[in-house]
Amino acid sequence: MAGIYLHIPFCKQACYYCDFHFSTNTQLKADLVAAMRQELQLQKNYLQGQTIETIYFGGGTPSLLSQAELDSLLETIYQHFSVTAQPEISLEANPDDLNLEKIRSLQATGINRLSIGIQTFNNENLTYLHRAHNATQASLCVQQAQDTGISNISIDLIYAIPHPDTTRIWEQDLATAIGLGVPHISSYCLTIESRTAFGNWLKNGKIKPIDEDTAALHFEMLTDRLTAAGFEHYEVSNFAQPEMYSRHNTSYWQQKPYLGVGPSAHSFDLVSRQYNVANNAQYIKALQQNEIPATKEILSRADRVNEYILTTLRTQWGCDLSYLATNLDLNLAETAAQQLQQWQANGWATLSGNVLKLTTQGKLLADGLASDLFID
Ligand code: SF4
Repeated sequence: MAGIYLHIPFCKQACYYCDFHFSTNTQLKADLVAAMRQELQLQKNYLQGQTIETIYFGGGTPSLLSQAELDSLLETIYQHFSVTAQPEISLEANPDDLNLEKIRSLQATGINRLSIGIQTFNNENLTYLHRAHNATQASLCVQQAQDTGISNISIDLIYAIPHPDTTRIWEQDLATAIGLGVPHISSYCLTIESRTAFGNWLKNGKIKPIDEDTAALHFEMLTDRLTAAGFEHYEVSNFAQPEMYSRHNTSYWQQKPYLGVGPSAHSFDLVSRQYNVANNAQYIKALQQNEIPATKEILSRADRVNEYILTTLRTQWGCDLSYLATNLDLNLAETAAQQLQQWQANGWATLSGNVLKLTTQGKLLADGLASDLFID
């Protein structure tokens, strides 16, 4: 079982916090779609005939693609890959692109899961983040998708946004999100990356990030409110009603292979990772010459151990120490015995049988804790 990720590197405007690969110039859109179809064809054997379970349009802003463009990409996938009878086909969409007509056209292409980039329902904060939609559009598009029959909806929310009233706004955002009745919510702490507008503002002293205690409080509010509303906290940043997990993202965390198509997309075939060039013009030019502009890295044992620890510790299923012992020749229970005891004493983790899981408190520190177990 495998997945395909398609990176659509265009956005209407640059959100001030975003460091994903995208361009606000959409002139190359048609050429880019043609190049991605070419890449799909050239890479048809990358997944060695495995059945495709999930297809994910990410970005960037895939909701900028027309129905014909989406159809052509999906047709190319069906032409060259074996796709399961009921695949999960997700598309990231921004509220300003969604209306009844657009949602119906997405549904007609076979999209059966929407991941909507709402971020906040507060108009002041939406402007501050330089989002292209307002709060009314944010709620309306979810209702319209539900009315149209797309029930598998995820929304993205951001917390720890600098604002004098940040905690009250976050409480309201959580209540509004829960009230929409969506089965999946992804939520991220606002981080200030150097290559963004916020990164520049930070250098110039124009922005002051939220202090760690407030960010931790927001994370606690997130887990409390959503678990009380019946969501499972199944990954550090992801919450789902029972069985409504993102099948695509879960397969990343379960070390399943995937093909990433488009500029900056990554692929993974269990033994190596491949990274496409993060430049639209270079990507198109290479594909026009039947070349895949990717850098390949063969994963060492340490890479595989560290990735396994990092990804599994973030999930509710935890890190299976027997998997590490059997497949990667690492007896973590022995080599990290002291650390694991300390984590349990601090209330950060539990060890039950061979499965190491982080508590809610531990999840707040997930990446730092995981890196303490990394090997060279
Ligand atoms: S957050 Fe999304 S919409 Fe905003 S610039 Fe980044 S990719 Fe584009």
